[in-house]
Amino acid sequence: DPRLQAISQAIRVVPHFPKHGIMFQDITTLLLDHKAFKDTIDIFVDRYRDMHISVVAGIEARGFMFGPPIALGIGAKFVPLRKPRKLPGEVISEKYALEYGTDCLELHVGAVQPGERAIVIDDLVATGGTLSAGVKLLERVGAEVVECACVIGVPDVKGQCRRIGKPLYVLVEPR
Ligand code: 5GP
Repeated sequence: DPRLQAISQAIRVVPHFPKHGIMFQDITTLLLDHKAFKDTIDIFVDRYRDMHISVVAGIEARGFMFGPPIALGIGAKFVPLRKPRKLPGEVISEKYALEYGTDCLELHVGAVQPGERAIVIDDLVATGGTLSAGVKLLERVGAEVVECACVIGVPDVKGQCRRIGKPLYVLVEPR
């Protein structure tokens, strides 16, 4: 797809952020580039529009930047998967491992009905730990997770990530 090169180039790499040795993939510059941002959303919408998806679940925070336009484009609801104590209603929680320590995602009870077909969206997948927590939350309420999707994925997770146990669709590799 000829659009992917421009999408990749619109992502800024910030060395040593947030700490020494990390090459941070900064998607805010992709959001500044209307053409590249629109192409990104269009690619996801074209992929998912005829797959009977009724739930686009986005992971806080950068999944919130890509999920809602995809949901609008395919005619699905957008469901935020949030960090602890952000959602005001009744929630279910799922802990997941980070490089150092653990984190947690929460889902509003009642936001997703049993049997709904869902995709989970984030900006970047590395180990897959974050996405797998999102998948577990949706499966706990009886949804069927059809696929996980990210703008950026390290090469060894392309297509499938063992940790997630679901198909994984990524547009570009880290720069
Ligand atoms: P994983 O759980 O797959 O190891 O890490 C993915 C999570 O870390 C995602 O929520 C993603 O937003 C965040 N993340 C880790 N490194 C980067 C990075 O370099 N750039 C961006 N934009 N997000 C990152």
